[in-house]
Amino acid sequence: MESDNGLTTCNECLEILELMLDNEASKEQESYVNEHIESCIHCFEHMQVEKEIRELIKTKIAQLPVPDGLASEIRSKIQMNY
Ligand SMILES: [Zn+2]
Repeated sequence: MESDNGLTTCNECLEILELMLDNEASKEQESYVNEHIESCIHCFEHMQVEKEIRELIKTKIAQLPVPDGLASEIRSKIQMNY
């Protein structure tokens, strides 16, 4: 293993990481990243941050209040169709 191409490895790792978080990475790519972050704290931390950001966005979207009128509006539309 060559240690002087570490930067390339990190760049590749972070690119695949994006795919992983979007569930678009292949099994090979995932194991590549998992192996890499075991020995690279920089990429490991990057992964944690990216995960947290995505979790945060998910929670924010889930917590969005549904406007009061919307539920009854949808309900009346459904009833009109029956
Ligand atoms: Zn790295």
